[in-house]
Order: sequence, then structure tokens, then C-alpha cells
Amino acid sequence: MTRVFNFSAGPAVLPEEVLKEAAEEMLDYDVTGMSVMEMSHRSKAFEKIIGDAEQDLRDLLNIPDNYKVLFLQGGASQQFAMVPMNLMKNRVADYLNTGQWAKKAIQEGKIYGKIDVIASSEDKTYTYIPDMKDLKISEDADYVYICHNNTIYGTRFTELPETGDKILVADMSSDFLSEPVDVSKYGLIFAGAQKNVGPAGVVVVIIREDLITDDVLPGTPTMLKYKTQADNKSLYNTPPAYGIYICGKVFKWLKKLGGLEVMKKINEEKAAILYDYLDSSKMFKGTVVKKDRSLMNVPFVTGLEELDKKFTKEAKEAGLVNLEGHRSVGGMRASIYNAMPMEGVKALIAFMKKFEEGNI
Ligand code: PMP
Repeated sequence: MTRVFNFSAGPAVLPEEVLKEAAEEMLDYDVTGMSVMEMSHRSKAFEKIIGDAEQDLRDLLNIPDNYKVLFLQGGASQQFAMVPMNLMKNRVADYLNTGQWAKKAIQEGKIYGKIDVIASSEDKTYTYIPDMKDLKISEDADYVYICHNNTIYGTRFTELPETGDKILVADMSSDFLSEPVDVSKYGLIFAGAQKNVGPAGVVVVIIREDLITDDVLPGTPTMLKYKTQADNKSLYNTPPAYGIYICGKVFKWLKKLGGLEVMKKINEEKAAILYDYLDSSKMFKGTVVKKDRSLMNVPFVTGLEELDKKFTKEAKEAGLVNLEGHRSVGGMRASIYNAMPMEGVKALIAFMKKFEEGNI
């Protein structure tokens, strides 16, 4: 068996330890004589799996008691609709447009109400996070929305917009659990699992309790009300049970590692060596304004499309895979999520150096 270093933006690399454990438990989970895939979501065994997953996540993020944790389906994209359906009372919301995923959320929001884009970095292909000093937050805004880490462009918020008494909503799909977060600053955080925490099919929602009400937009389907999901502890219908089980294992892996402070330090170290190399290279260039660089997604280019193609092809042959940039921007992107080991980043840098020497 040969495992590659997988730099995919998602679905993405998972901790090898977690995959091995899941493999060992595939046929017989904890003396139940069956796989978690075959198990009733109402069984004692699964109750413990989802209960432990929630508690471990609460421990990792220090989630205050007045927040609910939900394990839902529909991916992060479904949250683009659930957020306005559940939180719009005045039918007005403010969004910061920092990339394609924010833009998709904006488009979806427009179905339900008036969306004000109060800051944007679209003018420079989203290579920076807009200045937030003079944000004009709409008086009647139901919430302010950000995409905390922009997977395609490789930027991230290092500070938050001042939203006063307005609810802050964040899409943390691509940097969830990569560092500690002060959950109390947000009304709602959501994250698709398939980047940092598990397989596709699960989306984690952390929502302040006072935002969970029956006062939702008319026509909101039962399944898409946070209240339905919260009242039923994410078990209103059959949840993505196997995915939740893997997420739970990843949470335990993170706790064993020492928690999110430790994870953050490792992520900073991994990103620093890659960015340092990019800054010193004569061939490769990072595409993002330095202060806004993501720790998770590192886009870079040679400036020559042919050379980019040659690079990703040869990298693949060397066991460094999925380095192509998003189909909308081209170039390269190395996603170095929690589960990408330091040795993977070092192997990438060594390969880039060799490629640079051989192609000058
Ligand atoms: N938000 C962000 C930041 C993402 O990176 C992605 C997926 N690439 C999405 C939302 C959409 O996620 P999903 O495919 O789970 O709907």
C-alpha cells in the first residue's frame, strides 16, 4: 500500500490513525457485531457516538452552554439557504464578499431578502481581505455574514468585523478546528466536514440558543428549521451516521494531540515554511496579500500556464497529488489542513526546489 500526500481542497486528507481505527472497526464496532454503517441511529451504540462527538467538539472549542451543536446534511451550501430562512426577520442581511463561496451565499440570500454587500475584494480577484474600518452595517440587518477562510483564493480573516449588536454568521468550512475560536463572538458558525474534520455528508452547525425559534420565513421546510434539528438533537431523521462517527474520531485525535492551541502552532509552522519558500523562490509566487494569507489553502503560480501544468503532472508522479488550483482560477493550490503532516509540506517544498532547479 502506498499513500500519497494529498493536497486536495476537499474532500481532503484525514488523519491516518483515524482511518486505521475505522478500518479495524469496519466489521465489528465495539463488540456490536456490526459496522457503524449498519447500525440504527436510535441504538445505544450510536447514541454514544453522537453524544461523545458533541462533547469532544464542545471541549475542543470551549463552546458556551448557550450554544447548540448540530450535525446536519446538505453540505455547507445548504447553510447558504438555512441561514436566511431561519435568521431573516427584517429580510435584510449584510455580507462580505471575499470569494466564490461568499458570493454563492449572497446569491442564495437574495432569494429570501435584501442583501447588502458591505465589503468586497472582487476587484482584485479576491487576493485580500477588505478593510473593515468603516463598514456600513445596515441598521435593520438581521445578521452580518463572512466566509472565514476562502478556500479557492487562500485568504482568511485574522480579525472580525465590528458588528455591534448584530449577529455574526461565519462559514468556517475550510478552517474549522485549525485554531481556537471564541465562539461567543458568533451567532452561528457552520462548517462542511470534508476539509478539516471528516468525510463529505456532514455539516456542523454551532448556533446560539436564542436564534433557534419557530419564527422562520414562511415555507421553510421542517428539515431546514434549526429548531427541528435542535429539538431532536440532530436525530429528526436518519443523520449521516457514519460521517458523524468519523468526525468524532477526528475530534478525539485533536484532543489527543493537545487541542486547538497545539494544532494552531503546527498549522502556523507548516504554513510558514511553505510561504517562506514561496517568498524566496524565483519561479513560484504566492498570489495573496501577505497579511491575509490562509494557513490552510496556499495558492501559487509560476506565471506560465504550461509550466504550472508540467509542475502538477510531475508532482503527481512523485506522490504529491491534487495540487491543481480551483478550476475557476488555475495555477496551483496546496491545501495543508490539520491532517497534512509536516513531512508532507517538507516533501512538497523539496519537490518544488528540485523542479525550480531543473526548469530555470
Ligand atoms: N464554503 C466553503 C468555504 C467551501 O470551501 C466549500 C466547499 N469547497 C463550501 C462552502 C461548499 O461546501 P459543500 O460542497 O459542502 O456544500
